[in-house]
Amino acid sequence: MKQEPRPHWSYSAINQYLRCPLQYYFQRILKLPQPTVSSGLVLGSAIHNALAVYHQYLMEKKEPVEQQIRQAFLETWIFRTEEQKVEFKANESQENLIEQGLALLKLYMEEPPPQNIVAIEQRFLVPLHNSEGEYLETPLLAFTDLITKEADVLKVTEFKTSGRSYGDFEVEASLQATCYVNAVIETTGQMPKVEYAVLVKTKTPKLQRLKTSRTEDDLGRLGDLVQNVERAVANEIFYPIETPLNCSTCSYRQECREWKPKGTAADAAIDVYELNGAGAC
Ligand code: SF4
Repeated sequence: MKQEPRPHWSYSAINQYLRCPLQYYFQRILKLPQPTVSSGLVLGSAIHNALAVYHQYLMEKKEPVEQQIRQAFLETWIFRTEEQKVEFKANESQENLIEQGLALLKLYMEEPPPQNIVAIEQRFLVPLHNSEGEYLETPLLAFTDLITKEADVLKVTEFKTSGRSYGDFEVEASLQATCYVNAVIETTGQMPKVEYAVLVKTKTPKLQRLKTSRTEDDLGRLGDLVQNVERAVANEIFYPIETPLNCSTCSYRQECREWKPKGTAADAAIDVYELNGAGAC
């Protein structure tokens, strides 16, 4: 029998609540199936898996076999697209995305390879603490793409696939980077650096590298934020945040249109009906 994983927070759960609490509710509370997936997510996971194969060769000090890396990319693509219906953006097609993905991989592999690889796709389950130094009951689950060591300092590299270049502030303010730092410091006692390697899907593919770091204060602030999200979820505070960015790739557009907040006139009528004892006999 499949065991239910221990309750935990993850960057994607925290971020999903902050982006759209109603989408969080549909996916993580009601556990509604997701019939569709965005093309960006499929491309991202195919590239991640291919990079993991590449980094494994490097870690084992073997000559990377390009054919195996391409195969990992294509197998992930096929697996994901058989599982769910892919929502492509205008001007996108399966063929051109596969071509772009392979070009981005080639570009990355032409760069000097990462040195001193410590871990690939490492799983962490670690505690979170707030700014008062109190530990939260629910731990944080994090998976880092790549960890290397540079002059005795650990570096977490996060790979992103994007249609545009990232701005410095996106990386400085990224909660994901804070989650990774929290995971590494709680496990090793060492404060790591973080680098975003952004594979940009422009006509001529581009690789952007952006570095960032975090302080103890940032980790306490992450705990404060998670504590508040936790309270909001416990109090069933769920509402839609309709933006083109959120909704264009959302699997729950139909459910969202039909959704009615608790405490509407209809709910109040049911409450009065039950209070009056109607239906009790
Ligand atoms: S359609 Fe938009 S507002 Fe509605 S749940 Fe999805 S992301 Fe949220």
